[in-house]
Amino acid sequence: MVRRNSNIAKLHAGYLFPEINRRRRKLLEQDPDARIISLGVGNTTEPLTGHISEGLVGSAKGLGTVGGYSGYGDEQGLTELRSKIGERVYGGSVDAGEVFISDGAKCDIGRLQVMFGSGVTVAVQDPAYPVYVDGSVIVGATGGYNEGRALFDGIEYMSCTPENDFFPDLQNTRRTDLIYFCSPNNPTGAVASKKQLKELVDFAADNRSIIIFDAAYSEFISDSKLPKTIFDVKGSREVALEVNSFSKMVGFTGVRLGWTVVPDELKFDDGSGVNRDWDRVTCTIFNGASNIAQQGGLASLDDEGLAEMRETIAYYMENARIIKDALDEMGVTTYGGVNAPYIWAHFPGRNSWDVFEEILNKCHVVTTPGSGFGPAGEGFIRFSAFGHRQDIQEAVERLKAKLR
Ligand code: PLP
Repeated sequence: MVRRNSNIAKLHAGYLFPEINRRRRKLLEQDPDARIISLGVGNTTEPLTGHISEGLVGSAKGLGTVGGYSGYGDEQGLTELRSKIGERVYGGSVDAGEVFISDGAKCDIGRLQVMFGSGVTVAVQDPAYPVYVDGSVIVGATGGYNEGRALFDGIEYMSCTPENDFFPDLQNTRRTDLIYFCSPNNPTGAVASKKQLKELVDFAADNRSIIIFDAAYSEFISDSKLPKTIFDVKGSREVALEVNSFSKMVGFTGVRLGWTVVPDELKFDDGSGVNRDWDRVTCTIFNGASNIAQQGGLASLDDEGLAEMRETIAYYMENARIIKDALDEMGVTTYGGVNAPYIWAHFPGRNSWDVFEEILNKCHVVTTPGSGFGPAGEGFIRFSAFGHRQDIQEAVERLKAKLR
């Protein structure tokens, strides 16, 4: 018999979304005719746009020809795509050699956790996208699970609430090796200002920490004063790396394509480059993103692709406005939903799972309970703006009719 990995045994009973699905199935068993609308998981719903899907189709067709066939490519991705990301996303401030193409941000976060290993200490925003904590636990970068506090020992939870403008109180934050920071934030929809990110970068520099900046929703920022990347901040190249993704910006959640930028200046304490180890990990346990997906990525960053991307994002952000307006009308205080596709709704004094159940049972609308993202999410519900317009409209009508 093989001994079970004790780190896996430390994980909370289940990942958040399987538990939500279990409750949704239970409702369907009781009421098979219920027409459930999901504003829960942040999964994209709208079809790919013309130029971008042509990029995928053209590449797939090409693979059926002698001239267009390609097998394994460079593990780091197509040079053309790496350069184009450097130019079109980072305005030339990032070099192609610092961009590593991946099969998505979540997968890269997992591989980063493998690279940093079990010896590191970790800080996360609370609430946070669950992979930062659970992935750290799996690689053993934490102590045990503390039932009483519902927290993992060894992880620094940086509370982000309306009281602190969803930005952690860094003066009272313990030093850790790694700091996960997500902006625009999933689940709160908060976007850190340049001043706040500068504070974070300075904090990391003082503590000789590394920031893992998750910018998966950067293209949803419409306010030109807000930073779309950590690299807009002076001093960040010495202390931060950035993960990003085509998933939400162009609907590649199923296509799978993302990237990670590791600046040349980012070093370990022995002076060696993080970039070099990331290259080593990438070449060892990753075999490159799909060549079809990468052609789709190239098409997304053409002028036509970027125009289509803006349309897709505008569609989802109109959904966000509809949800936010409806909740405002119902007297529910909301955050986010302006430069991010998530609305963070406050139900003070209530248990998130109870509110989730009430919305599910009365309105047949699936949401995500805030407490599933961390203890500071208790009393909140996350509404996702990813959905067909008619479903969003029907969902808000049901909320307005049955919840108030
Ligand atoms: N990072 C954040 C903050 C997310 O919300 C998500 C997906 O919901 C991801 C990363 C995963 O992105 P990908 O589809 O590229 O793996």
